[in-house]
Amino acid sequence: MKAYKDMTREELFAEKEKLEAMYQDYKGQNLALNMSRGKPSASQLDLSKGMMDVLKSDSNLTCEDGTDCRNYGVLDGIPEAKRLLAGMIGAKPEQVIVYGNSSLNVMYDSVARCMYEGVLGGKPWALQGKVKFLCPVPGYDRHFGITEHFGVEMINVPMTPDGPDMDMVEKLVSEDPLVKGIWCVPKYTNPQGYVYSDETVRRFANLKPAAEDFRIFWDNAYCIHHLYNGEPAQILNILDECEKAGNPDMVYEFVSTSKVVFPGSGMAALAASTANVASIKKQMAVQTIGHDKVNQLRHVRFFGDNEGMEAHMKKHADLIRPKFEALISIMEEDLGGLDIAEWTNPKGGYFIGFDSMPGCAKEIVAKMKEAGVILTGAGATFPYHIDPQDRNIRLAPTFPTIDELKLASRVFTVCVRLVSAEKLLAEKA
Ligand code: PMP
Repeated sequence: MKAYKDMTREELFAEKEKLEAMYQDYKGQNLALNMSRGKPSASQLDLSKGMMDVLKSDSNLTCEDGTDCRNYGVLDGIPEAKRLLAGMIGAKPEQVIVYGNSSLNVMYDSVARCMYEGVLGGKPWALQGKVKFLCPVPGYDRHFGITEHFGVEMINVPMTPDGPDMDMVEKLVSEDPLVKGIWCVPKYTNPQGYVYSDETVRRFANLKPAAEDFRIFWDNAYCIHHLYNGEPAQILNILDECEKAGNPDMVYEFVSTSKVVFPGSGMAALAASTANVASIKKQMAVQTIGHDKVNQLRHVRFFGDNEGMEAHMKKHADLIRPKFEALISIMEEDLGGLDIAEWTNPKGGYFIGFDSMPGCAKEIVAKMKEAGVILTGAGATFPYHIDPQDRNIRLAPTFPTIDELKLASRVFTVCVRLVSAEKLLAEKA
């Protein structure tokens, strides 16, 4: 098919009329589909059903160091859970603090602690003026939600397939002492599924921040979430690289088992240097006597070890890979060659990043909604919900069934074509 830009006004008008009819047909079907959030499907959740059987009333609930997991105690996690979570990200168990059920919660707590208590005994961020965070964009809306909540000024940094624009990161971090942090999802970024290159990770580790209380918020949420459509991606270990670079304390790494087992009932962890871990544990000891050790034990008994977890992730991949492939092949079929959109083809994670022509994303999402298909709100992938070019849309193919997804994808490509044709027609008028 001809690129829309090369069509005459008449051709484009005929195309728009055809698309409008297709759109009205979908609207008449009273669809109720959702491609908005990165949630596992019910069949993925079924993979972890056995979690409910590993602990029974007559199970031995003593962990390997002899602690009775039914009782109070153990601030930073039972040893076998630390080992399992450390293994997910290649950290050492002693670098890990096991928290509760959500890594987002750990990130919120971490920003809150830096704000009111400061970093390693330094002045609280909140007393230093208008502190700033760098936000690679497009990015994860809930990260931006945390920093917005605390009144942190957010600065957009463009993403590339190798990670954030590091020239910009280095400049801002080294020049401005009010830049206190950066949000990073280093592997299978949300939403594009990009993977930080070794050079990017090394440049992060070698940053020379103007602020000594600057921290990299390294959210390794998708560390083992490969689609197995080719070689699984590998990234350098940021904790090791920071240590080598003489910056051991500069990073907080986050991980969780949310999309490994049951989101909301997994376990989360923070990994960091000895100094950071010691300082965080001091604050944490005031906050809690300890997190859910029974859940920690349940995870360890279910998986055995990291190899068991990897085998489990391959089963997830077998369920979600066909969904990514279906959505991508429908976009290639319906949008390929039209020169109105671009999208990523990730090797892992939960999302596909989609860019329409500038000025079209809001309208596409609104049209989808009108036809009964919910997408992540346009703008959500940017701080303050402002996509300066109004073109990025996050596609989340995992939750619907494959048939629902295929239908939603067809509605999507019709909406993208319709909105693009309308826009180009208006420009040609
Ligand atoms: N980080 C990223 C990048 C995510 O995409 C998500 C979930 N969508 C989370 C964190 C949330 O993780 P948790 O369930 O551990 O709070």
